Amino acid sequence: MRKIIVLVIVIAVLVPVGLVLARSATPFLDLPAQVTSIGQATPVTLHVHDKSGVRKASASIEQNGAHFPAWELPQPTKNADSTWSFVVGIKSTPQLRDGPAKLIFEVTSNDLRGKTARLEHDVTVVTQPPTVSVDSEQHYLYLGMADLATFSVTGNWSAAGVRVGDQTFRAWPMPGGKPGLFALYAFAWNMPAETIPRVFAANGAGNDVTSPLTVIFPKKEQPKYTVHDLQVSDGFMQKVVGELDPNGSGDPVTRFVRINNEMRKANNKTLADLRLKTADKFLFSQPFARQSHSQAEATFADVRNYIYQGKKIDQQVHLGYDLAVTQHVGVEASNDGRVVYAAPLGIYGNCIVVDHGYGLQTIYGHLSHIDVHEGDMVKRGQVMGQSGMTGMAGGDHIHFAMQLDGVQIDPKEWWDSHWIKDHVARRVDLPGFTEEVATSSAPAVHKRTKRR
Ligand SMILES: [Zn+2]
Repeated sequence: MRKIIVLVIVIAVLVPVGLVLARSATPFLDLPAQVTSIGQATPVTLHVHDKSGVRKASASIEQNGAHFPAWELPQPTKNADSTWSFVVGIKSTPQLRDGPAKLIFEVTSNDLRGKTARLEHDVTVVTQPPTVSVDSEQHYLYLGMADLATFSVTGNWSAAGVRVGDQTFRAWPMPGGKPGLFALYAFAWNMPAETIPRVFAANGAGNDVTSPLTVIFPKKEQPKYTVHDLQVSDGFMQKVVGELDPNGSGDPVTRFVRINNEMRKANNKTLADLRLKTADKFLFSQPFARQSHSQAEATFADVRNYIYQGKKIDQQVHLGYDLAVTQHVGVEASNDGRVVYAAPLGIYGNCIVVDHGYGLQTIYGHLSHIDVHEGDMVKRGQVMGQSGMTGMAGGDHIHFAMQLDGVQIDPKEWWDSHWIKDHVARRVDLPGFTEEVATSSAPAVHKRTKRR
């Protein structure tokens, strides 16, 4: 009789515990951002999923057999999903030395069983930030134009380049196996004049260093962007809306303005993303060529007021040249390169993008027909298709534009062999631009006196 009672009590106690055990979970840990090195104070973000919440969580660093606590969760949580951000590194753990280490996370579930999960992560401790040394040149900056900086980075680094405001231009090893790095960078058409481009190097451990370029911003010689009124006829509006928003509804003005803003932005993002499809060498050895016999109907960074029935409905900046010849003229590659885009692209209509290496790319829009494919190598002057008026174009022309690491720039300097020599070939090896090849058949569009 007594035995049975004991048994019943045991069962009564065990059953609920068993139920809890069956539902107990192991915490799931992950790091939303990769951590590969640890520096002075490296930010770390830990995400944990556990339906019972988290009772204990900690981070520690193990190096050469020694174990250093680095972070601890202050109090338990019932939340199923938690994300914690904290810093680890030499500042709080001065015992760390340069070299490999392990970053270890341990998280205990907030239920009766309290299962613990562990995540180990190989890292490199980097006690010293990289150092940057920048060329001693005076860099002349012009709105919408490009330039080139050379520099060297020593120590442990994972990314380097030139930062101008919030824009980043990648560093590349000097061509021809020479020591050091270089970056082509742009001073965008809308960059505040007082912005100082800086060379940066980062090691992924929060130890970023920067060094400013020596710059001259000749105020009087800056390009002046002109404002134009563009009359939007009913015919043009219907053409654009019918072609680019065929299934849309609502009044044509709203649809036109939406295309001109949202679609333009999306198309420009697609163009900018092509920066990643670039060669790590110069693919050209001559100045860029302007479409033969063409008239420029619009130039770089023209401000356009869109006027419909006497009312301004929109304003945009035109980041290219509108080059007109005759209808269905052969669209010529501006220079040697590789086709990285050949397809319709919203407001740009049928569009081709050619990569010329190191993030420098040319863009051709509004074609009636495309005769090249992505991946094709093209030669300077090679016909790649026929001009037209696809996309947001009211008449047959080629929208010609240029971008550097995804930032649209004024192509005119690249039509000028003297400019390329002064800004590029003087600083890095660029085949074809030796002292002898100083003249060009390309028209000199723009002359400045104090230019370098
Ligand atoms: Zn255009």
